[in-house]
Amino acid sequence: MDRRKGSGGRDANGGLAEATASRLRFEDADEVAEEVGMEVEESADAEGEAAAAEVIGSEKTSADYYFDSYSHFGIHEEMLKDVVRTRSYQNVITQNSFLFKDKIVLDVGAGTGILSLFCAKAGAKHVYAIECSQMADMAKEIVKKNGFSDVITVIKGKVEEIELPVPKVDVIISEWMGYFLLFENMLDTVLYARDKWLVDDGVVLPDKASLHLTAIEDAEYKDDKIEFWNNVYGFDMSCIKKQAMMEPLVDTVDANQIVTNCQLLKTMDISKMSSGDASFTVPFKLVAERNDFIHALVAYFNVSFTKCHKLMGFSTGPRSKSTHWKQTVLYLEDVVTICEGETLSGSMTVAPNKKNPRDIDITLKYSIDGHRCKVSRTQQYKMR
Ligand code: SAH
Repeated sequence: MDRRKGSGGRDANGGLAEATASRLRFEDADEVAEEVGMEVEESADAEGEAAAAEVIGSEKTSADYYFDSYSHFGIHEEMLKDVVRTRSYQNVITQNSFLFKDKIVLDVGAGTGILSLFCAKAGAKHVYAIECSQMADMAKEIVKKNGFSDVITVIKGKVEEIELPVPKVDVIISEWMGYFLLFENMLDTVLYARDKWLVDDGVVLPDKASLHLTAIEDAEYKDDKIEFWNNVYGFDMSCIKKQAMMEPLVDTVDANQIVTNCQLLKTMDISKMSSGDASFTVPFKLVAERNDFIHALVAYFNVSFTKCHKLMGFSTGPRSKSTHWKQTVLYLEDVVTICEGETLSGSMTVAPNKKNPRDIDITLKYSIDGHRCKVSRTQQYKMR
């Protein structure tokens, strides 16, 4: 349920701490340009505050949070402190006020209301901020406190269930991306809002998202996470190993672990795509840049805002500044011995789980016919 859940892991210093401490980088202009085919005031209200605090505060138990993690401030703190993420949206909005000036904006999944506040500051005529979790009460309070009650209307409820006071909107903004881009499947909610409320020539922000794949050397960590189960205090627990292998690991990968090129798997145009386009099978060819061993494939995503005056966006790849999304590591059954110039080829199938569409099923086929290694295998993964 919780796309932002921490996974611990090799990122001992914490990807996020690192992200907030070091220099800001929100644009991977070259990479983004390549894949999209482009050249390179206050009003206090003590009463409201107290009422909202009652809803979010003491009344909630851990059981409530288990089913509704977005009601807890912690997850919003993590997202807001992800400066790659939040500053990118801020820069997109403040540097492109022509997209917002006098426009009706819909913020899909508003959380604390941060994106709505940016849009209101950029001159939006009105912003409708929809949020289904209890955080909506806080967003209302935040909007009031910051003097934007006239411009921002927070609507508490599911996008799929609420009534919007206006028939159409000019702009839809949302931060819907999950681990492996598609985990949690909030994209469907954005597409639903687009089809129902966006004017014909309306703008969706961001409008492009792409999934990428590369291969890494990861002996030490695979040992720690997978082989560990072979011998636990002298006991064979390898039945758990099978489950551990099937679960993609969300973690930060060091750029110097990368053995092959990075390949673009799939680009999605959020302004045009249909829900079904989030299920796909795509081929890949990863060419080794050095002699090494491959223990895992690594997936990550980029998003871009192509309607900006200048192309803007960010990457969650291992060569970019780390974000709370980290990368997604898929361990291989085999240790692939690859020589420089050789190719690990195959395909990846991605689809929402039939029983629970918020989960993702991934099928990975890979093969290599190299000098030192010949392997062909299919593996299943489930993101839960
Ligand atoms: N826009 C905020 C929050 C992004 S996280 C920010 O950028 O910081 C996504 C938010 O969407 C969560 O708060 C979640 O509760 C909300 N959400 C997810 N699905 C929703 C739906 N179907 N209807 C309304 N809100 C939804």
